[in-house]
Amino acid sequence: MNAPNPDIHEVVLDAIQAQINTLQSGALTSAPGGGARTEKDLAAELTQLETDRTLLRAHWAHLPRPIPATEPPRSNACGETQPCTHVRALKQKYCS
Ligand SMILES: [Zn+2]
Repeated sequence: MNAPNPDIHEVVLDAIQAQINTLQSGALTSAPGGGARTEKDLAAELTQLETDRTLLRAHWAHLPRPIPATEPPRSNACGETQPCTHVRALKQKYCS
């Protein structure tokens, strides 16, 4: 458990951002399985990704108060110890 792992928030942000980039760079012409995405589908997916990205950032920020070094930071959005359940749910969704 002492190995330096990349920050879970950064990992999830990278995964979400990668999907956004993919969608924005020609997903319409390269949809897997031959089924072309409609622009409406694409817009809906992008909206969902951007919503999740905003959620991630909200729960990434930690409470702006001095805390003892022995205490893990708590999410500003929900008050849970980081990484909070919201961020872990996003990780499951995008990194599994
Ligand atoms: Zn949270």
